[in-house]
Amino acid sequence: MKVAIVGTGYVGLVTGSCMADMGHDVICVDVVEEKVAKLRSGQIPIHEPGLPDIVERNLAAGRLSFTTSLAEAVRPAQFVFICVPTPPAEDGSADLSHVEKVATDVAPLISTYKIIVNKSTIPVGSSMRVERIVRERLAPGVETDVASNPEFLREGSAVFDFMHPDRIVIGTRSERAAGLLTELYRSLGAPLIVTDPETAEMIKYASNAFLATKISFINAISNICDAVGADVKEVALGMGYDARIGFEFLKPGPGFGGSCFPKDIKALIRVAEQNGYDFHLLRGVLDVNEQQHRIIANKVEKVTGGVSGKTIAAWGLAFKPNTDDVRDSPAIAVLRELMDRGATIRGYDPVVAESVYDQLGIERAPGPMEAADGADAVLLLTEWNEFRWLDFERLRDSMRAPAIVDARNLLDPHTLRQLGFSYEGVGR
Ligand code: NAD
Repeated sequence: MKVAIVGTGYVGLVTGSCMADMGHDVICVDVVEEKVAKLRSGQIPIHEPGLPDIVERNLAAGRLSFTTSLAEAVRPAQFVFICVPTPPAEDGSADLSHVEKVATDVAPLISTYKIIVNKSTIPVGSSMRVERIVRERLAPGVETDVASNPEFLREGSAVFDFMHPDRIVIGTRSERAAGLLTELYRSLGAPLIVTDPETAEMIKYASNAFLATKISFINAISNICDAVGADVKEVALGMGYDARIGFEFLKPGPGFGGSCFPKDIKALIRVAEQNGYDFHLLRGVLDVNEQQHRIIANKVEKVTGGVSGKTIAAWGLAFKPNTDDVRDSPAIAVLRELMDRGATIRGYDPVVAESVYDQLGIERAPGPMEAADGADAVLLLTEWNEFRWLDFERLRDSMRAPAIVDARNLLDPHTLRQLGFSYEGVGR
């Protein structure tokens, strides 16, 4: 089938390349010329495991191409996927200007039946808004449908998630569109939920809000564990065996972040407000999350006896491992808090771009050991695997004071304490 993907970021690029790998003919379009030029030569602008191979394979097979021309992508396509950003507006609601611009620009290019598919995360009712924009600009007699098809991939395992989705959600009132979208995804063999657009949009927001709630819940529990001397890892394990609860998303840490959870939760709170409901549960989820940044900073204060004038080695800047994405990264929020309190930061992350260090105003070390050399404490913020297997004796000897705050509970407290480190985890 013929597919156009509008926007080649984390979602668009993964969707386009994976669909090409499924055998479809895909043309991806983006407004950033430099990005498109890179992609044409097989260079991937983001860090996403498995993606370079898929792009290379499908470029070579001629099933995947990149352009800056919307017309070139849209004209031959049966499906036009909108994968552009929906950042938070000032009041927390989702800013739909990019989505609306695409809908406005695509409509006049349609001369044969197409399905416009919203993959961007957009609040309830937005698909209908897109449909109105498109219909107002459509040439007479031309048929089209608009559908919602929210994306659930996780950065860091996006290719796997796209190819092995837990479910595919299709929101449309058109049987024709539902049938064609089912066909498009058939080879994935995933459970399919076909529903109306409003329900599809709500499924996405409710899923992200629930996952974020689990994280804030376990963070709150971890803070009590710290106070009473319980071990949150075992608490989570004991809870997780209950099939009604499950193990996932019960890991305490510096709080959730990334390009989706914070903004989607704010947008859902706003949607609730606009409909006369005060979603105070979710406001609490956000409060706990922000408080967690300060709680981690307090742990660094504790192991250093005050951070002002001290040098802290930050291990990890990305919001989670296996990605270079630092949008709303809790690591960065904690580091800002520490800098406000007078600390100097020397950071290391295996994939995050150099410009991020510059923007943050911190020194960039070539490795974790170099970051810690002469430092007053190590603060582990992203659970990259490489931090597990270091020579901790050498680390201890190279630091001004051997102290570690393990904001991800990645390391073994017992071993580190035996080596003479002052160790602080989260809730244990
Ligand atoms: P992104 O910022 O990584 O990528 C968006 C891309 O769209 C950029 O390359 C940008 O240049 C391009 N773009 C903007 N306006 C355009 C236009 N008019 N025409 C063509 N290209 C245009 O964003 P993302 O992380 O891929 O997220 C996209 C959407 O998907 C958001 O709504 C997000 O909430 C949702 N989503 C993201 C994830 C995730 O993990 N990143 C997961 C699920 C859903």
